[in-house]
Amino acid sequence: MEQGICHGGIGSFYGDFGYCCRVRSPLPFAAFFTTTLTPRSANTTMTIQLIRTALAPLVFALASAGLQAQTRDEALLARATAAQAATVQTLERLVNIESGSTNLDGIRALSQFLESELVAMGAKVTRHTSTIQGGADNIAGRIEGTGTKHFLMMAHMDTVYPVGTLAKAPFRIDGNRAFGPGIADDKGGIAVILHSIRLLLERGSKDFASITVMFNSDEEVGSRGSSALIQALARDSDYVFSYEPTTALKEMMVMGTSGTAIVTAKVKGRAAHAGANPEAGVNALTEAADLILRTQDLDDKARGLRFNWTIAKSGTVRNVIPDEATIDADLRFMRNEDMDSTLSKLKERAAQTRLPEAKVEISATVGRPAFVAGDQGKRLIDKANAIYKTLGHEIVVVPLTGGGTDAGFAALSGKPVIEGMGLPGFGYHSNQAEYVMVDAIPRRLYLSAQMVIELNKGE
Ligand SMILES: [Zn+2]
Repeated sequence: MEQGICHGGIGSFYGDFGYCCRVRSPLPFAAFFTTTLTPRSANTTMTIQLIRTALAPLVFALASAGLQAQTRDEALLARATAAQAATVQTLERLVNIESGSTNLDGIRALSQFLESELVAMGAKVTRHTSTIQGGADNIAGRIEGTGTKHFLMMAHMDTVYPVGTLAKAPFRIDGNRAFGPGIADDKGGIAVILHSIRLLLERGSKDFASITVMFNSDEEVGSRGSSALIQALARDSDYVFSYEPTTALKEMMVMGTSGTAIVTAKVKGRAAHAGANPEAGVNALTEAADLILRTQDLDDKARGLRFNWTIAKSGTVRNVIPDEATIDADLRFMRNEDMDSTLSKLKERAAQTRLPEAKVEISATVGRPAFVAGDQGKRLIDKANAIYKTLGHEIVVVPLTGGGTDAGFAALSGKPVIEGMGLPGFGYHSNQAEYVMVDAIPRRLYLSAQMVIELNKGE
């Protein structure tokens, strides 16, 4: 028996149910039902018989369904615990390369560092030019294994911080917290990917068909230069893990995040003197105001569809009937199809103008798609939670949140996607107080590696 690992012996099964031992076969159950016990009395015989009769259907149903009490791999956990110090060192190195989204030199330096780390692990690394002109490269590294499933692990290199932030808020450790700009979002995610893959490689068994690592350069500014790459790599994978941070107080995973779009209505009217002959004009401002009122019901909170006009511009001179008006709305949606249906409803309403001669043109700038984990994503979260519970921790499942994530692009592939695999932290996007929880590192490394091991086995 491998040191520290339970293998479903009946003693440990009863001693530590659901915490330590995976029952790999129905044998321990069956033993209870087939062992010839030596009763001390007729009553005892009857009691044993009653228990057997009562429990038999349940136990055999569980056993035949292959339902397994979750165990933990003590050897893997020991390695994950031992990797904490090296992971903190990696975090320090990552934080010390400033990589704000517009700091192209910084992102380039960081991608070179990550490329060398991946190559050292045996990955074949490719650089992918940003699809936005002037954007920094995204990088992908692929490690071949001997298993059956293909995994995509992704995190972003860029941060929200301008050059010089590091000088004001250098990397430091204070108790259980490691501070630094971008340390949670998303350098913690990068560190978890690198060190959890090392754990998998140290096992020597390469329990995956392939792991592709994708580090993009523009997540904080909408991933416009990397979204096509994310979708392509996700399509080639069986499972996608996204390593955005989770929160320090409660380690959460989300079932969905909203998609975003900016909707613009351009109203054309006709100018006229406001005092002498306003009847000759077509007031674009009046038409815009009416459009706002007749589209308010498109907002549907219960469906997670938020539609609100937020900016209006019209008129430059007080005594002229305005011939133009532009209004913008903020659109958020939990289902990608809701964006299309909202736009078509809006176009219909806009065409029915209040002023017959007014013309309204609707356009939309789509931000991120909605991320919908769906049933297959929920199964991944359930798996993560089962693994986490063996460590005495729990993942809180959050149904839907605002805010965008690259998981939305990955999920367009139709493949199962899990978000929130990074480090628990706090203060993302705040200037000098971003940190991660150091003692969470072993369990996050373990979670990442164990997810690969179990999913590869088809569990
Ligand atoms: Zn992020």
